[in-house]
Amino acid sequence: MGHIETIYGCMFAGKTTELIRRVEGKNVLAFKPKLDNRYSTSHIVSHNGETLKAVLIDTAEEILDHVNGKAEYIAIDEVHFFDIMIGSVCRKLANQGYRIICAGLDLDFRGEPFPPMPYLVAISHSVTHLRAKCVCCGKPATRTQRLINGQPAHVDDPVIMVGADDLYEPRCVDCHEVRGV
Ligand SMILES: [Zn+2]
Repeated sequence: MGHIETIYGCMFAGKTTELIRRVEGKNVLAFKPKLDNRYSTSHIVSHNGETLKAVLIDTAEEILDHVNGKAEYIAIDEVHFFDIMIGSVCRKLANQGYRIICAGLDLDFRGEPFPPMPYLVAISHSVTHLRAKCVCCGKPATRTQRLINGQPAHVDDPVIMVGADDLYEPRCVDCHEVRGV
């Protein structure tokens, strides 16, 4: 019987580090969405610099084309960027006996859930909620603060702001600020 595990939390909570740690030395097939080009086009890279070779995909269903029965584990990073179909893909793979470990952000900068995350958390056999440390008060951080040119982002600001100084930092729920709400 397979298994679905989801690691979630805000930015800088160590989700990718934990994902890589769980599959270290295992026979693993790793995936991440193609849009994430922060560090490398073919590896999952944590903020601490650990890496895991990954297949870049556009849609959740593409995972099914890559699995071949050889890997025991399937790792999916930045899982929040996929659509809700990622949940049924994970279920299908778990029914085939795979051990699936997903990692991603539960909430966007406004504090709203990324669409696939509530479903994924609900169907997981185990979940790990990682917290960072609030940069303002030092309490456990569960929110991602977005700062544009040094100011808290507005609720209607687009996800990509060309030419703006866009920064993210971990904050607790009390210190998290969104303009326009
Ligand atoms: Zn705080």
